[in-house]
Amino acid sequence: MWEADDSKDLFADDDAAGAGPRAVTGELTADDVEVDRSLRPQTLDDYCGQERVRENLRVLIEAARSRKEPLDHVLFSGPPGLGKTTLAGVLANEMGSRMRTTSGPAIERTGDLAAILTNLEPGDVLFIDEIHRLNHAVEEVLYPAMEDFCLDVVIGEGPAARSIRLDVPRFTLVGATTRTGLLTGPLRDRFGISFRLDYYSVPELTRIISRSAGILGVDVDEQAAAEIASRSRGTPRLANRLLKRVRDYAQVKAGGTVTWEVAAAALSFFEIDEMGLDWMDMKVLRALTQTFRGRPVGLTTVASAVGEDPSTLEDVYEPYLLRQGLMIRTPQGRQATPAAFEHLGLLLPASS
Ligand code: ADP
Repeated sequence: MWEADDSKDLFADDDAAGAGPRAVTGELTADDVEVDRSLRPQTLDDYCGQERVRENLRVLIEAARSRKEPLDHVLFSGPPGLGKTTLAGVLANEMGSRMRTTSGPAIERTGDLAAILTNLEPGDVLFIDEIHRLNHAVEEVLYPAMEDFCLDVVIGEGPAARSIRLDVPRFTLVGATTRTGLLTGPLRDRFGISFRLDYYSVPELTRIISRSAGILGVDVDEQAAAEIASRSRGTPRLANRLLKRVRDYAQVKAGGTVTWEVAAAALSFFEIDEMGLDWMDMKVLRALTQTFRGRPVGLTTVASAVGEDPSTLEDVYEPYLLRQGLMIRTPQGRQATPAAFEHLGLLLPASS
């Protein structure tokens, strides 16, 4: 069995200025940690969606098990909340192995990595989240460990320093990254297996919500699950988070049972609209459509108009708005699309 190390510093800064925590970021928040553990699928059969990845992994795991060898190193990439950590745990379970969890920024020095690696047991799965954030020196130590299962350690300093080679047990490294583009070529090349996770369909998220509702003991009908799913931005972590908010609302206002009406009322109470947009997305769209009247504007200008850090705007808010066709990025800057005007019930400015 595996256990995620939830003590790691993975908490998103969810308290954006203005209107309280966002329900719709894919990032992990303190609220998720406790319930997450019970909702995480433990086996490939429990894991919904990502059919291609699942079927590929099933074959690879079966082959490795029959050879009685650890699985080749695996890289999972994709936006936050799509199930990379979960898959790493599933993989360890299916291999009958232990999982050790850490993250790129947590391994500051080469000595930290050496300590982690020398404490592994044969067949262990080492999960490194945000692997693109490993520093260069640490990465260099990781290469021989991944390739030849050995570690070059320098002992002493100055002229007395000498290098010794230590063996590391055969292990499987599972790396997760939200930014494949930031991974160095040599590191990427050392993963024998690499999968990109996609956003989930509404029927897949509906199944995830129904499964989670069962675990949480909440009575949610099929239509209500589908309504929550359609506002979850293709992301299981959000689906589970919205389910918990809807459960709270139902408990206080509707005697506990979640029908479609209760789900819809709860989601509008928490200001999450039919497209899954929240108050912060709306603020960005209002700036682009009303303040800047549909003209292209630079990232920093939009960021200061909505009181947000430019890189947060770019990494957290924009991807969904771009994916939904509500904004575009042009060489001149960010621009609202006609769909954004329509979504806000606004007329297109005369010049567009
Ligand atoms: P990531 O590591 O990609 O940020 P996680 O693996 O932490 O995402 O997934 C977030 C939550 O979403 C998990 O706690 C789990 O409950 C749920 N989840 C993710 N993928 C699935 C899935 N395929 N089926 C069911 N639940 C899932």
